[in-house]
Amino acid sequence: MCGIVGYTGPREAYPIILKGLKRLEYRGYDSSGVALLSNNKLKVYKKKGKVAELEDSVIGLDLQGTIGIGHTRWATHGEPSDRNAHPHQSQSGELAMIHNGIIENYTQIKKELESKGYHFKSDTDTEVLLNFIEDIKINNNCALEEALRIALKRVVGAYCILLISNDDPTTIIAARKGSPLVIGIGKGEHFLASDASPIIEYTKEVVYVNDYEIAIVKPDELILKNLGNEKQTPFITKLDMELAAIEKGGYDHFMLKEIHEQPNSIFDCLRGRLLPQSGQIMMGGIENNMDAFIHANRIVIVACGTSWHAGLIAEYLIEELCRIPVEVEYASEFRYRNPVIHKGDVIIAISQSGETADTLVALESAKEKGAFIFGVVNAVGSSIARLSNAGAYTHSGPEIGVASTKAFTGQLAVLMMMALKIGFAKKTIDEKRYLQLMRDLESVPEKIKEILANTKEIERIAEKYKDASDFLFLGRGYNFPVALEGALKLKEISYIHAEGYPAAEMKHGPIALVDEKLPVVFVATKDSYYQKIVSNVQEIKARKGKVIAVATIGDDIIPGMADDVMLVPDIDEVIAPLLSVVPLQLLSYYVGLYKGLDVDKPRNLAKSVTVE
Ligand code: GLU
Repeated sequence: MCGIVGYTGPREAYPIILKGLKRLEYRGYDSSGVALLSNNKLKVYKKKGKVAELEDSVIGLDLQGTIGIGHTRWATHGEPSDRNAHPHQSQSGELAMIHNGIIENYTQIKKELESKGYHFKSDTDTEVLLNFIEDIKINNNCALEEALRIALKRVVGAYCILLISNDDPTTIIAARKGSPLVIGIGKGEHFLASDASPIIEYTKEVVYVNDYEIAIVKPDELILKNLGNEKQTPFITKLDMELAAIEKGGYDHFMLKEIHEQPNSIFDCLRGRLLPQSGQIMMGGIENNMDAFIHANRIVIVACGTSWHAGLIAEYLIEELCRIPVEVEYASEFRYRNPVIHKGDVIIAISQSGETADTLVALESAKEKGAFIFGVVNAVGSSIARLSNAGAYTHSGPEIGVASTKAFTGQLAVLMMMALKIGFAKKTIDEKRYLQLMRDLESVPEKIKEILANTKEIERIAEKYKDASDFLFLGRGYNFPVALEGALKLKEISYIHAEGYPAAEMKHGPIALVDEKLPVVFVATKDSYYQKIVSNVQEIKARKGKVIAVATIGDDIIPGMADDVMLVPDIDEVIAPLLSVVPLQLLSYYVGLYKGLDVDKPRNLAKSVTVE
């Protein structure tokens, strides 16, 4: 998520940091800021919006300093605003810090600090961590490095942080767990950043800092230690990548990078919320409004595009696990047809950007009619997030590729946790199933890694079918919306006409299209519809259609019938869409790639549809 840059050495830090922040812009962010240090004085400048806006806002101000830190923020705690932008300064004003990641237990630490008289200027978890470090430093009368070490032992979550102090004019202290950090080694100077893109023009020698390491960085010295205060030997790597390749994390496209990020983005989404060991799902937005859900007359899910497919899966989930009637609506239709909405209806709005115009207007009118609005959104502080009565962020990180991949699976993970939490509270699922599904959900990141290890086969299948002019995608039950999503992805990325259908419905029309040229993708994992879908595959084979199947590892029937197979690990059918969609994302990516298309920016499409 987002970016950090730091510099200590003989040169002026500001131009280096500013350029570095611009290099990191591709990662997506909502605000930026810098802290510079000269003559024992910290200067902090920060601004909501683009780095260029920060640049404009500091013209004429004191930008001197040969040490500094800079940040592009992707909000997770507190809306994007000048106040919540980083760097943050500690209560005494002595320390400045930037942070990428999430501090899960910040609420508890914040309460402790407030009881000691600390006041907070922002809503961020970052400012809490910073004052926690300062408090330890003051109470223990110890060095900053020691205070940081003590603080990090209590912190739960993910972080890459850079810290500077006005009583040390040359040192940056850095630490990481779960968020990336690279240190570039120059002659009498050091560069720090989230990836090598801000560093590469100054030096090719870098050290990748590991989790649970602290770096003490001075112009001519780099000391690495673990949290036990033992020195570690820095391992110097020589960069041999181009700038563009670094920005895409070594992948050819953002879409491929984002598909591969899913084990991490789903882990981040579940982090601190899904706790199978204690049998808890921590979601404040649900917890505080449980009555609204339990007593809901019905739930209406409002969304567009890929988010609408996530909504369809939620319909199956919520009806099965919570026994609440659910309707799923295209926002654009819902808003114009004067829908019947009563008090006691719950509306769930799903949107990656939180700015989807149709969804936003639909919600405004539903809210006026007294419905309770729950937002499932990726972008913190976005319009839909602000309009909602409550919500849950997907924490998928910025998504740059226009075709949604990791944001979709983030939405599914949130919706699954919601259905489990409400169903358990409503006693419509028993404890055994609740715990089993929690464990299954927890296993998803590792299982996606298994699918991603098999991309070569999917690439081969994509090349084989790249010249088809039409595709049919079929699935039943939980896998029916996955089939719709597979068809949409293929249309978006490869411009091949594709249709998704419930597998049984094909006999009522689409079967007329089947001939030896038509590839039919079956999402046919082992679930309660399995026998039925085996028959559907036979029906297509009998008409000489080409069958590509997403099948479960260990299945010995479907792979024998299909022309080509993409395997996924076994998992409960309720959770299965999180796995079965991944091969379809890869299939569309590689078909688009083999057709020589711009997969990150498909023609005519926009990432965030802010017009009706
Ligand atoms: N959790 C922090 C915030 O919301 C850092 C977010 C980031 O990684 O940019 O400010």
